[in-house]
Amino acid sequence: MIDLKSLTIKSAHEDIKGGKYSAVDLAKAYLEEINKKNKEINAYLEVFSDVIEQAKQADERFKNGTATLLTGIPFAIKDNILIKGRIASSASKILENYHASYDATVIDKLKKEGVVFLGRTNMDEFALGGSTEKSAYGITRNPLDLERVPGGTSGGSAAAVASNMCLVALGSDTGGSVRQPSAYCGVVGLKPTYGLVSRYGLMAAVSSFDQIGPIAKNIDDVEIVLKHISGEDVKDSTTISKHTYKIKENKKPVIGIIMSLSISGLDPQVVKNFDESIDKFKKAGYTVESIDIPNISNVLPIYYILNFAEVSSNLSRFDGMRFGLHKDGKDGIEDYFESRGTGFGKEARRRVLLGTYVLSSGYYDAYYNRANALRKVITDDFLRAFEKVDIILTPTTPAPAFKIGEKISDPVAMYLEDIFTVTANLTGMPAISIPSGHSEISGKKLPLGLQMTTIHGNEKILFDIGKEFLGEK
Ligand code: GLN
Repeated sequence: MIDLKSLTIKSAHEDIKGGKYSAVDLAKAYLEEINKKNKEINAYLEVFSDVIEQAKQADERFKNGTATLLTGIPFAIKDNILIKGRIASSASKILENYHASYDATVIDKLKKEGVVFLGRTNMDEFALGGSTEKSAYGITRNPLDLERVPGGTSGGSAAAVASNMCLVALGSDTGGSVRQPSAYCGVVGLKPTYGLVSRYGLMAAVSSFDQIGPIAKNIDDVEIVLKHISGEDVKDSTTISKHTYKIKENKKPVIGIIMSLSISGLDPQVVKNFDESIDKFKKAGYTVESIDIPNISNVLPIYYILNFAEVSSNLSRFDGMRFGLHKDGKDGIEDYFESRGTGFGKEARRRVLLGTYVLSSGYYDAYYNRANALRKVITDDFLRAFEKVDIILTPTTPAPAFKIGEKISDPVAMYLEDIFTVTANLTGMPAISIPSGHSEISGKKLPLGLQMTTIHGNEKILFDIGKEFLGEK
């Protein structure tokens, strides 16, 4: 029996290398877990039929001496990342049965390492949402409390990691979609610096915010995966080779707390847990300073205006003609209306409509341009704050995982979930969510997450401080 609960990339690698078990044995162990649990949790939309075949090839590499640290490591992949020849639907009806014609850059990199792809994971349609209830293929349940959501939009990936249905997973984060589900499921999730990981082959939601990010049970695994998926890519001109921001040299990093955020609307158990986390840092010798982000109260409207605008533009390529679902009307235009009307879910339609509105000639300046200008102001606020501090700490979410159905008909309540996470996407800065404890509701322990943000390209400090906080070697 392989103890999947305590398995890490390094320990699995050592075990396979040392002949304790093979990559095939490991893959079988995960498939068994999936067989037991996925029916109820619905983390996977599809478990690939060639998993054992992939694992055999990994074993071959161990035999012929070409295995690397990731060879044979079982991955789950969010359904908006393309793997050549396999279905990629973004959990939408409009892409039902769409088969990817090429590999995303991250997939290409992982294939070279010989990882084992277990399957594709559920998500909110086109990465729009925060609960994985907006998939066209059924909801995903939180493995720690089946009546609650796993968070979203990478809810399937986070749930798969948390329930040992994979060792590590990839998600995508546009406004918190890696970090929020990681917090709700008690695992670690990273939104890398914008441009660090290629978006080639990631279905675009909001091109100026989207980043692919790793989800794992510990920070070391997240760090390893990031190292293997990042890098400049000629196929994505927004990728960067070098960071232009200067990283400060410090003895002990200084931690910043945003003054105006220690306020209303937060779950009391989140506040308590956050205060305890700060105390833990102080005890470990860190200096904690209050910082001011003057325009912080505007982050959600700015984020959502830009989100709607870019989503409406990005989703226009799904017209029922080239990919996936096609519906016949009496002429071309009607085909288009029919296909989009049937193929897109409610949230996608809402954002297309609102995005078209904020981009319309009469309102473009008032909404889109203004939001873009304010995005720069917020980024400058943060850059200024990082002259004083090295990382900024917030809770990842305002409350623990909510009940399935609780927010489904209230889009604004769902959007408010993102209050702490969207800033990293607006500013392009990296942010990680790590487990910081639990909140207790009716006898059930629900995980809480602590978010750490830092300046562009400085992921290392997040890993180092996070490892110290979690007592991870
Ligand atoms: N909840 C946010 C939204 O709905 C973030 C989504 C994401 O990161 N993909 O826009």
